[in-house]
Amino acid sequence: MHSSESTRHSSEATRIYFDRAADQLDLSDSMRGLLTTAKREVQVQIPVEMDSGDVATFIGYRVQHNAARGPMKGGLRYHPQVDLNEVRTLAALMTWKTAVVNIPYGGAKGGVALDPAKLSQRELERVTRRFVDAIHDLFGPDVDIPAPDMGTTPEVMAWIMNQYNKYHGFSPACVTGKPVEYHGIPGRDEATGRGVGSLTLKLLSRLGRQIPGSRIAIQGFGNVGSHTAKFLHDAECRIVAVSDAFGGVQKTAGLDLLQLLRHSHAHSGRISGFSGGDPLTNAELLALDCDVLIPAALGGVLTKDNALAVRAPIIIEAANAPTEPEADAIFDDRGIVVLPDILANAGGVTVSWFEWVQNRQHYQWGMNRVRQELDRILGEAFEQVWQLSLSRKVSLRTAAYMLGVGRVGRATVLGGIE
Ligand code: NAD
Repeated sequence: MHSSESTRHSSEATRIYFDRAADQLDLSDSMRGLLTTAKREVQVQIPVEMDSGDVATFIGYRVQHNAARGPMKGGLRYHPQVDLNEVRTLAALMTWKTAVVNIPYGGAKGGVALDPAKLSQRELERVTRRFVDAIHDLFGPDVDIPAPDMGTTPEVMAWIMNQYNKYHGFSPACVTGKPVEYHGIPGRDEATGRGVGSLTLKLLSRLGRQIPGSRIAIQGFGNVGSHTAKFLHDAECRIVAVSDAFGGVQKTAGLDLLQLLRHSHAHSGRISGFSGGDPLTNAELLALDCDVLIPAALGGVLTKDNALAVRAPIIIEAANAPTEPEADAIFDDRGIVVLPDILANAGGVTVSWFEWVQNRQHYQWGMNRVRQELDRILGEAFEQVWQLSLSRKVSLRTAAYMLGVGRVGRATVLGGIE
């Protein structure tokens, strides 16, 4: 469902969610205009010599949405359907996300339209280095700091830092999500999933629901899905179903997660062929009878066509923009509680901030400190969103947008426009 169609819906969705918060905040039209347009959008040509000797031309994008609260921050996506509209939408989401968790950043996003599975490592490295050649003057530790997203890895981040250094000298803080042995931080890998898991527990508690034995279904078993599953399994929840691009597996009594992780590591991240449960499709997973549904793969998967089939009373948006506005309205009517992406998956950017702070101080944090600080920051953001949602009688999504948009608006006014 990753297509220009879902991209169009995502951009409409984020605009609708923004407007709803802006109405609540009584924002002027001029402030709305300022906050919904990007500061800078770049598209570059990336010609690369392939292993065959042929030259292939890729297109790279970087959208820097807003810098009112600090240097802009956002992932870099390698996926065949990456386009300017998708990157623009995701860049704006990053602005609201960094503001919701109150870390001193703005928002940005980038991507290259390519399928990483179809390129060799050497080809991927050449694309990455040529992309840095094209945009190295436009990003950097105090300007805009890329990080991993779908299709990019810590190794890609290491190439980015290494290539950037050739122009600007030693600058580990120019990119985050680097390998731990190469100026990265322990705990970045698990951070988004850990955040999703710990926020799920906070929401269950606030809703007065039992945590042990809660039935959890997760779409996507990549970085975010697998770490979310592990965290919630360790908290004694039952992971009743997981899926990936090739299908899924379910078990009402709860999947044996350690076996499943072992299977996935041994099969290039895939879960197909796992014998510890019954097969199910992605459509069946979204409609499964469970307590918490966690989309952790693509955007635009919850639509007006399947929203009525969802049986979970709680949805945690681990993926970016998984819910179309029509589906969101249906969930609202049905009393289904949705924890929005800009809060639910903010653990990754929060630990990226720790990595950047550590790089600038030339100091190393241990795993315990990373986890403790992450839990504190997400816990505070969750409580603020929860209280705002109660006091203003709005959904958690509108409350999160109000908090994020309000903070960016205030910083803009305080800084002044002249
Ligand atoms: P990933 O590439 O590690 O994993 C993606 C998973 O989704 C894989 O299991 C893949 O098989 C599955 N998938 C792909 N297409 C699918 C389909 N059509 N149906 C079902 N499953 C499918 O990516 P990730 O880093 O885990 O990111 C997942 C989501 O979380 C994305 O929306 C991303 O933007 C968001 N996110 C990631 C981070 C992070 O730190 N990695 C931070 C914030 C948000």
